[in-house]
Amino acid sequence: MSRRANDKTELLKNKKMNDETYALRIKVMEVIYTLKKSIDLPRITVRITETPNDSILGAARINHDIIWITERCINMSKAMLFHVIAHEVGHAVYGLRHNEKCKLMCAVVNKPSTTKESLTVLKREDSKRRKNRESSAIDKLQDLFGTIAQI
Ligand SMILES: [Zn+2]
Repeated sequence: MSRRANDKTELLKNKKMNDETYALRIKVMEVIYTLKKSIDLPRITVRITETPNDSILGAARINHDIIWITERCINMSKAMLFHVIAHEVGHAVYGLRHNEKCKLMCAVVNKPSTTKESLTVLKREDSKRRKNRESSAIDKLQDLFGTIAQI
């Protein structure tokens, strides 16, 4: 599927790109740039959506580097916007699922996590991913050169 066809979710309706939507998107990008100062993020596709009637604030496609943020969420407090974006990045980049024991990744937000709390969760996943990447690079090298077995 092309990226364009893949930027839709049944849950939320993407807003048309115009000056108003761009201004909303900039607020989301600012949070992502802040996250990028602490963690190694891939390019994330960001879509701004209409606000549905229910309580959805954002959505993400697990492990697919795409997030959807509702207009209502962007107009909430900065702390809430940061929490929701960090939460969606947790899903989209690190494949995290909901976890009621984690303030960032629990399904319902009561009180937003602090910036520090959010970064602690994402940094931990970032370093896990880095380690996995290193060990898979070693596996590839061993495949390339052949692993010597010894008795
Ligand atoms: Zn979620």
